[in-house]
Amino acid sequence: MLTWLPEGKKAAICFSIDDIHPAKSSDYYEAGGDLDKGSLGLVKWLLDRHPKLKVTLFTTADWREISPVPTRKLLASIPYLRDKVFLAKRWKKGTMQLDRHPEFVEFLNNMERAEIAFHGLYHCHKGLKVPVEFQDQTEEEFDCIIKEMLRIFDTSGINYVDGICPPGWNAPDKLLNQLVEHKIKYINSARDIFTNISKDALANMSGLKGVPLIFPSLLKNNKLLHIPANFQATSKPERARQIIDNSGLLSIKAHIIKSAMGHIALDGVDQEYMSYLDSLFSSIDKEYGDSIWWTSMGEITNHIFSHNKA
Ligand SMILES: [Zn+2]
Repeated sequence: MLTWLPEGKKAAICFSIDDIHPAKSSDYYEAGGDLDKGSLGLVKWLLDRHPKLKVTLFTTADWREISPVPTRKLLASIPYLRDKVFLAKRWKKGTMQLDRHPEFVEFLNNMERAEIAFHGLYHCHKGLKVPVEFQDQTEEEFDCIIKEMLRIFDTSGINYVDGICPPGWNAPDKLLNQLVEHKIKYINSARDIFTNISKDALANMSGLKGVPLIFPSLLKNNKLLHIPANFQATSKPERARQIIDNSGLLSIKAHIIKSAMGHIALDGVDQEYMSYLDSLFSSIDKEYGDSIWWTSMGEITNHIFSHNKA
C-alpha cells in the first residue's frame, strides 16, 4: 500500500475550495475578488482560528462562465445542435484573466497557509453541462488548453503548486495523459459525500469512480497522484470521525461562490459553513491532538513522491 502519512500521524485533514477567480460582488457574483471583505475574508477568519489548518485554492486562469446552467432554453432543447454551441452568455475572453488582476494575485500570494492550484482555463464548455470544461476534447486540444492555462498562471506571477481540480470534477483519460505530459503532479477529481466510510470504500459520485474514497492513490504508472474529496458542509461530524478512525484523509470541499445567478451552492463559503468547520476542527483537535496531520494537497503530493520512489 501507498506510504502516505508521515511518521507518528494516524490520519490527515485537508481543505480545498473551488472556483476562485477575480469576480467581485459588483460583477454577477463574488468569487474572491472582494479580497478581505468577501468570501476569502471568511476563509482567513477560519485559518486565523486554526493555526495548523491549510487550504488549497483551486483557481481558474480566465473564468468565462456566467450562468452554471443553460439560459438559451430553446437551443438547449434541440438535441445534437445544443452540443455545438454555448448555451449561456460568457464573459469576454480576458475579462477575468489572472494577469489582468494584479491586486487579486497579490492577495492570494500573501494569504498564509494557502496554496494555489489549477481549476481549468475557462471553466465552461459547449452543451448542457456548462461548467464541465474537460469533456470530449482530443489530446491535442487538452494540450492547448493546459498550455494556455499554464501561460496565464506564469504571466500573472501567482505562486502555484502543480495540481489540478478539473471543473465539474470530470477527468477523461485523455486529460489525465496530458496532465502527465505537462508534469502536473496531482488531480483532485473524485468527490463523494455519500458512500459509507471504510478502509476499502471506493468513490462513486462525481468525477473519477472506483478510486479510494479516503486515501490518495496513484494513477498513470505512478506519475499522477489522485486525491479524493469526501466531506462538505452538509456532511455530519460522524463522517469526519469515521474517516479519521480509519486512518484516512478527511478531505473537505467548499465552493467560493455561495449564490451564482440564483443557484445556491450547498457547500458555498459563508459564515455558517465556516463556523461549522470551526467547531468541527476544535473538537477534532481536542480529541486527536498531534496524531492528525493538518496538510494540503500539494504537501501530500510532495510527501508521497519523495517516499514512494518508483
Ligand atoms: Zn468549479
